[in-house]
Amino acid sequence: MSGKSRARSRVPQQRAACVFCGSNGPLTEEHVFGDWLRKLGYTGEGLREWSVDGVSVQQKGGPFSKKLKIVCTRCNTVWMKGMEDSAKPLLVEMFKSNRVELNEAAQRDLARWAFKTVVVSSHVDRQAGRIPTVHRRAFHQTDEPPLGTVVRIGSASVPREQLGENLASCSYKPRPMQATLDDGRVIDVSAYTGRIRLLNVVFDVFGYASPDPSLRVHNELPSEVERALLQIWPVEHPTIWWPPVETFDTFGGLSGFELGEQWRVLPMIN
Ligand SMILES: [Zn+2]
Repeated sequence: MSGKSRARSRVPQQRAACVFCGSNGPLTEEHVFGDWLRKLGYTGEGLREWSVDGVSVQQKGGPFSKKLKIVCTRCNTVWMKGMEDSAKPLLVEMFKSNRVELNEAAQRDLARWAFKTVVVSSHVDRQAGRIPTVHRRAFHQTDEPPLGTVVRIGSASVPREQLGENLASCSYKPRPMQATLDDGRVIDVSAYTGRIRLLNVVFDVFGYASPDPSLRVHNELPSEVERALLQIWPVEHPTIWWPPVETFDTFGGLSGFELGEQWRVLPMIN
């Protein structure tokens, strides 16, 4: 009798789904930043900083040892491993502050890596919003950042702080919006911004998932910020050179970049 009541009171165990493909796993531990960074020698005491809705959480510890259990074995060991392997040689060249030529394939490789890393890093804080499921699934299905995503790349210096060098930082911010269509209907648009700084390399990911495909949302940036970013997705130019003319230091790093942002909704031109 007592055994039965215990069984009834037990909360059914729900297996968490892979954030990318949606399968029931089993889930494996995934590094927020690839383990290859730790193997490059960035093993010392660092500073992890997670910024959620403008509130920054700093943790002392190796920034590249942080792991999350949100991805299935198949996605982690094959698909995402491929993204790390493609982006690694490009990022390593950038860490040396060399000028790096980015052809179309390189822009795509870096954009995929940035989108993947924004999805993973947005799960560091359980309270943070999530990249819309439709975008995570589309990313997995098409193997490219989904429609309605813009990925840009920039540069910044590695800040020295009290606890040590701040080797990497991430921020994720849901930006729910409402848009008025031509027929007067008001619809909800799930827009978001994810940003990553890995050593001296900065990525800005803007995306939106709208229930109405005729809607185009454009993330308009002040001209001085535009000068610090190069668009790598969707690919606009067959070849670009990193870094851009301006660095993020001009705006006080990732947090300074938040200032002066404007949002504009554009109708799609047929
Ligand atoms: Zn998966």
